[in-house]
Amino acid sequence: MNSETKQCQNCKKDFIIEPDDFSFYKKIKVPPPTFCIECKAQRRLTYRNTHSLYKRKDSFSGENIISIYSPDKDLVVIDQKTWWGDSWDPFDYGLDYDFNVPFFEQWRNFRNKFPLQGMSNSKATNSDYCNVAEESFDSYLVSASWKIERVLYSDGVSSIKDSMDLHVVHRTEFSYDDVVCTDSYQLFYSEIAISCVNSYFIYDCRGCTDCFMSCNLRNKSYVMYGEQLSKEEYNKRFKEMNLGSYEFIKEKKEEFEKMKLKCIHRFSNIINSYEVSGNNIDHAKNCHNCYDVSDGIEDCKNVFWSVKNVRDVFDSGPGVGMLQLGYECFDTGAGGGHLLFDSVVYYAENVEYSFNCYNSSDLFACIGLRSKKHCILNRQYSKEKYFELREKIIKHMNEMPYIDKKGIIYRYGEFFPAELSPFAYNETVAQDLFPLKKEQVLDMGLLWKEEEIRNYKPTIKSIDLPDNINDVLDSIVNEIIECEHKGKCRDRCATAFKITPEELIFYRRFNIPLPRICYGCRHYDRLRKRNPMKLWSRSCMKEGCHNEFETSYAPERPEIVYCEKCYQDEVY
Ligand SMILES: [Zn+2]
Ligand SMILES: [Zn+2]
Ligand SMILES: [Zn+2]
Ligand SMILES: [Zn+2]
Repeated sequence: MNSETKQCQNCKKDFIIEPDDFSFYKKIKVPPPTFCIECKAQRRLTYRNTHSLYKRKDSFSGENIISIYSPDKDLVVIDQKTWWGDSWDPFDYGLDYDFNVPFFEQWRNFRNKFPLQGMSNSKATNSDYCNVAEESFDSYLVSASWKIERVLYSDGVSSIKDSMDLHVVHRTEFSYDDVVCTDSYQLFYSEIAISCVNSYFIYDCRGCTDCFMSCNLRNKSYVMYGEQLSKEEYNKRFKEMNLGSYEFIKEKKEEFEKMKLKCIHRFSNIINSYEVSGNNIDHAKNCHNCYDVSDGIEDCKNVFWSVKNVRDVFDSGPGVGMLQLGYECFDTGAGGGHLLFDSVVYYAENVEYSFNCYNSSDLFACIGLRSKKHCILNRQYSKEKYFELREKIIKHMNEMPYIDKKGIIYRYGEFFPAELSPFAYNETVAQDLFPLKKEQVLDMGLLWKEEEIRNYKPTIKSIDLPDNINDVLDSIVNEIIECEHKGKCRDRCATAFKITPEELIFYRRFNIPLPRICYGCRHYDRLRKRNPMKLWSRSCMKEGCHNEFETSYAPERPEIVYCEKCYQDEVY
């Protein structure tokens, strides 16, 4: 089969469907897509809200709960403990399929009446504001996480203890303000570090201990500003650092950005992998255009933020693990397989267009089912009837497609239209990875959530905070601190923030100055440090080398980017 060029229904740009794509679509019996890779990811993410949280009333009990659905949304939302209990029956909300109404419209109507979980944080202890979190203990404002203890203000983390302000960090303890790091201990203000201890402002380092403001190091100790020092000299100079001072750290952060421009950037951060393209790939084989994937990922394409035994999965993520055969899924897996157009579906097989289902098989367009089989729109059918009706619905989806406000046509084989998402665009991870302005979002026919009018009355301006953490009084925990951005930055700025007692202990223990900006602003600052999930064809910048590669460093960027060979020659 040859490759084929198509025009994306959404962005109108051309995209190519490769022969291996066609064989994949044939295998899962889904027609080729009408959206390009990026538009598919963006559409999927409009259904994922990890950290826009609100207070609203539980639709059953009337009690106040924390929810990812803002109170102005006409939805049925209940506390997750009730959701998991047996005081209600998901079958009570089931519908007969209506052949007079397009499928996606019926699904939207069904969802809008169905009791939805306010938040998703299972096995959580004292971690109320953690969402899409599994096994959290004494943690606060963490999203997309697994196994965390005493972790604050972080996103995309697993197996973390006693840390704050992390983005995509795994198996790490006592660390602060790191992006894309693993297996580390007491690591501060660093990026792309593996197995590093007691280090500050390091970039692309591995196996390092006691290093400061350095990059491209392997198994080194006592390196400061790229200079190898004796232990005594390092400690002497380190002691002179005024780490507790905000002004000092601000200056070091600027130096760090300058240092990054001088160091060598590997075209892609690939570890123990074979035949792969993308970035931040660890233990993968035959995977293309994949990002932040690790631990046994095979034969996948266009997958991101996915871990552990994922095979034959295309256009999926974030949050896919232990899944065989999947397409357009997120937050899904844990065994089983053949999942199409699903989210929050676990331990399941042959499930399509479903949301929040567990331990089930052969479901089509279901929500909230546990241990069920052969259901459509939460109605039970016999095995024969199920397969017969499923075929009829697919035919109906093709004959009476859903057409959105912009005239885009959705038949069987498309993910849910973004305009039917229960969230406004800027409440979702779509805004994190594909940031748009309000006008652009409205132009796409999608919703934009205006910043809530905050009634915070700051009691102190960030500029008036003590420069050094040593001069901060215990009473700081009672203050409302005005965020330096004052809501003017579009980064979901909360305009003001508080310091929790746990946080203060952490800052004091590790000699870290108080932040001057709120959590939302810090989160977006970290997001901007990572490369986009997109590849460009470029050639090696080492003089005399003509090797070509695909890299997430866009051609106009200022960094020095080397091919694998030249990088290894310089760094190891
Ligand atoms: Zn497109
Ligand atoms: Zn802010
Ligand atoms: Zn901001
Ligand atoms: Zn080269």
